[in-house]
Amino acid sequence: MSNMRTSIKCNCGQRIIAKDVVQHGYYLRLFGPSFVYVKFRCSRCKKLGEQFIKQEEWEEGILKDVALEISTEEKDRFVNMGAIDINEVIDFHFALESSPDLKSLQDAPPPPKKTRTRSTPSA
Ligand SMILES: [Zn+2]
Repeated sequence: MSNMRTSIKCNCGQRIIAKDVVQHGYYLRLFGPSFVYVKFRCSRCKKLGEQFIKQEEWEEGILKDVALEISTEEKDRFVNMGAIDINEVIDFHFALESSPDLKSLQDAPPPPKKTRTRSTPSA
């Protein structure tokens, strides 16, 4: 079900994102698949590397680091949660104000679940 996202990785395992790319081009062939060519300098080990990716496997966002942060499942969850509304912002504001430091905020229990009036599409 979960399709592995194509990503570019350095030999050291560090994922390569747009800012690491030094050269980017296309390697077109008359026969067989065309390739996208990416030359990069790894942000971790500072080594130069290069990779060819089949054009059909190339996708928008391959070089975006957000893809690393959240999975498709998480993304769906965030989308379902909807936008942060003003009440949540206010709650957070007071939570920040009543917290002596960020550590205690991290340790604080999650706020009680509120019943939302948002209409959810019935499955
Ligand atoms: Zn590296």
